[in-house]
Amino acid sequence: MAPICFKSGTSSSAKKNAIKKVRAHDSSGFYADDSEWLKILGRYLTIRVDGVMRGLATALGQTRMRTYHGCRPKDVRTYFENGLRVHSRNTLEAQLRELITDKALLRMISTDGQDLSIDEHRDGKLYVVADDRHLIKFAGHYMIYGSEWLSAALRYHRDRLLQFGTPTVLEISLPLTRVDRDTRIELARHMLTEWVRQTVYPDQVIELDFTFMFKKDLAPELIVSHFHPQQIPNWLERMGPLYLVDSSQCELCKSPTPKTADHCGVRARKGVAIQAEQKSVYIRSGSHRGKSSP
Ligand SMILES: [Zn+2]
Repeated sequence: MAPICFKSGTSSSAKKNAIKKVRAHDSSGFYADDSEWLKILGRYLTIRVDGVMRGLATALGQTRMRTYHGCRPKDVRTYFENGLRVHSRNTLEAQLRELITDKALLRMISTDGQDLSIDEHRDGKLYVVADDRHLIKFAGHYMIYGSEWLSAALRYHRDRLLQFGTPTVLEISLPLTRVDRDTRIELARHMLTEWVRQTVYPDQVIELDFTFMFKKDLAPELIVSHFHPQQIPNWLERMGPLYLVDSSQCELCKSPTPKTADHCGVRARKGVAIQAEQKSVYIRSGSHRGKSSP
């Protein structure tokens, strides 16, 4: 990606001067994703912010991004063998019958009920997210209960799902060629906004709510790692109590020869930034343990 050119020039002192002016603006009332951040940036650039965004979106198309998927697999190795599959109602119904042997409970579940309307939005699709902190903090039910569809199907009996599997976050090295241009432009907008915001407030790192949706499976070789959060807020319970994760039964962590060392471990999550995996488009905005692509 071409460097960002400020009106005051391209030298480091000119850049520092422009950044100083950006910092001088009163931004105390701005939201983290406020469009005002980019308006401030635009005052000091030689080209329109839209042009910078489009350039960044093009550059992103040449790189990969570390993304995340929350799940509760009985055996995480199936993901490393089969990849991430799109939502399939038929497959989930089969899983429901496999997991729940209680015939009376199965009869109580109306698979055509309104609570399963989630199916209309999910069937044939899969989702990964850009920020695992946001995933764990606000969408922990994917890891606590596994499938959202199964959880909805079992409703008040969803705790039955806690008997199977281990709360897990998969790490996916996502080639952004798989992402359409409009989504990449939106991602670029978030990255630039965050870059400006952190220019002003370098010690504050936002948790990004950004999701990628796919209508095709993601190949197993794109899944490069997994980990188990130690504790997860459970927002399906009143007041969101912390769910404490027991990862001792994870088949891959138990394995004496895990696929790679990177595939094993329990971690307390720390800060993570919007992170593309190629330095040319890397806009770093906080501390994060880095990992290389496969
Ligand atoms: Zn594990």
